[in-house]
Amino acid sequence: MIDLQNIEKYYSNKGVKSYILRHVTTSIQEGEFVSIMGPSGAGKSTLLNILGMLEEPTYGVYNFMGEDVTSLNERKRIELYRNHIGFVFQAYHLIDEMTVAENIEAPLLYKKIGSSERKSRVADMLGRFNMVGKRDLFPNQLSGGQQQLVGIARALAAQPSVILADEPTGNLQSAQALQIMELFKKLNQEKGIAIIQVTHSEVNAQYGTRILHLLDGVIKEDIKTAS
Ligand code: ADP
Ligand code: MG
Repeated sequence: MIDLQNIEKYYSNKGVKSYILRHVTTSIQEGEFVSIMGPSGAGKSTLLNILGMLEEPTYGVYNFMGEDVTSLNERKRIELYRNHIGFVFQAYHLIDEMTVAENIEAPLLYKKIGSSERKSRVADMLGRFNMVGKRDLFPNQLSGGQQQLVGIARALAAQPSVILADEPTGNLQSAQALQIMELFKKLNQEKGIAIIQVTHSEVNAQYGTRILHLLDGVIKEDIKTAS
């Protein structure tokens, strides 16, 4: 599903290059559950953003579902993103002026999905996440854990092939974090949705079947977990 060949990312400042990612070469298959770990500043978010097409590498080839992402024009790239990728952010990134239901529906509008199908997917998500009673509330009326569930519901409503999550439980208490990890595991095992998460937590990382360790922009380790 994902193939990275010699991905590099650097910023040039007065002719001096500072590398964020170096020689990143790896593949991720459909249905995998991968955790990306590493110290702060290692390049984890940059790598996830490149996978999510939110940032472009300086060098290298990124192939997603048989498409060379780096050579696609912006319109094609956005279409590929909308059809396959659900992004979940640490800080939720919900739209404050929209209700829970409207937030979940928003990506479906971009995908030009018809009104009745949109309503049915939103209802399905609200039901699945036990948030039917919260459909008309605004994000600031929810707990952090509930906001992140809305963030995940929004990513899932578009029926992605892969969920990319950057420290999705970084702002949550451990009980809520556990709930999110169990949800990811279920989505991965029952729906075959690939999960790629950045995490600082060894416990969270073990939910995955594989852990990539990044250090100074380089993949230092790529190990299979026991699960
Ligand atoms: P992580 O998520 O592992 O903490 P990031 O991918 O966010 O790391 O960042 C890796 C490094 O890249 C950091 O040292 C950060 O300061 C640097 N960086 C990120 N964006 C820019 C930018 N626009 N210009 C220069 N350096 C940047
Ligand atoms: Mg980060």
